[in-house]
Amino acid sequence: MKLSEIGEFGFIERFAHRFEDLITPPAMGIGDDCAIFPANELYDYVFTTDMLVEDIHFIRSKISPFNLGHKALTVNISDIAAMGAKPVGSFLSIAIPANVEVEYLDELMEGYHQLSQRFHIPLMGGDTTRSPEKLIINISVIGRIGKNQSRLRSMACAGDIIAVTGFLGDSATGLKVLLENHKTSWLTDYFVQCHNRPNAAVEEGIWLGEQNGVHAMMDISDGIASDLKHILKASGKAAIIETDKLPISGQLIEYAEAKRLNIIQLATSGGEDYQLLVTIKDSEFDSIANAFKKRFNKPLYPIGQIEEGKPQISYFNNGEPTSEPGSGFNHFV
Ligand code: ADP
Ligand code: MG
Repeated sequence: MKLSEIGEFGFIERFAHRFEDLITPPAMGIGDDCAIFPANELYDYVFTTDMLVEDIHFIRSKISPFNLGHKALTVNISDIAAMGAKPVGSFLSIAIPANVEVEYLDELMEGYHQLSQRFHIPLMGGDTTRSPEKLIINISVIGRIGKNQSRLRSMACAGDIIAVTGFLGDSATGLKVLLENHKTSWLTDYFVQCHNRPNAAVEEGIWLGEQNGVHAMMDISDGIASDLKHILKASGKAAIIETDKLPISGQLIEYAEAKRLNIIQLATSGGEDYQLLVTIKDSEFDSIANAFKKRFNKPLYPIGQIEEGKPQISYFNNGEPTSEPGSGFNHFV
């Protein structure tokens, strides 16, 4: 059987349940953005690991080594932010082919260090090895959070407002610009920057995790069409998404018009925006969104609502039902 027949998640489902009885709750293993290890009466530790493989996750000629180091760490601390936790340490394992020079690696570590310094995340270990042809970077990050305060994918409740922390679709447009070699302009520079130099919502995640009305939380790595389904499956709930409410940057609106791009598809299925996807108790949404605006000087964008029902998403456009725009990025199709 080919992996493409069952996909990444089909593969994980084949073995994940066999390890469940080796975990003692409240520790938690496979299935969320991070695993959880109870530390003491005050704290839990959360742990995540993510791998970037050359020509699968990045093309070496299309991203600077500085940005690659920065992005590799960003995608990991984004999973820590998705729990509401504070990143406290990282590990870096790297497999290096012969055609990668030391100067390249110095730049890569410069990007890694700059982000580590910004959030005070020490690099605490790792592994270095040769690789036959491709550059492979695997990072693990540990985070810390108040006991039982982690926001899980399983915590969505019927009636919750679904919200995101920022624009969707810009990173996917950047990838399109790079892969299709679009003519460069200030607009394409913006999208490529969003793709190659994303920011993890670290402070937003910690802040949201401190609000009682915030229920489920995860980061958007594959696009909401796919990522929201993880929340729905884990919570046993359905959702509606109002596509006219998706936050789209002015840049994307302008570029999509010129290039005839499908904005909704890019915003729902593109991925790699690394915004946070949260579900918030209906009655508390306005006060949390107002406080978020004051704290971060940007809106928390409501895009839909959690409902009772099978774990599927119904899409609406200006109140009218509309078809599913796409189903998110999948590595094995
Ligand atoms: P994320 O995009 O948030 O990093 P993924 O979608 O990559 O999460 O993974 C989903 C879940 O499956 C996570 O809990 C992750 O730790 C787990 N997982 C993925 N691959 C493996 C693997 N090879 N072995 C064990 N767990 C895995
Ligand atoms: Mg994640």
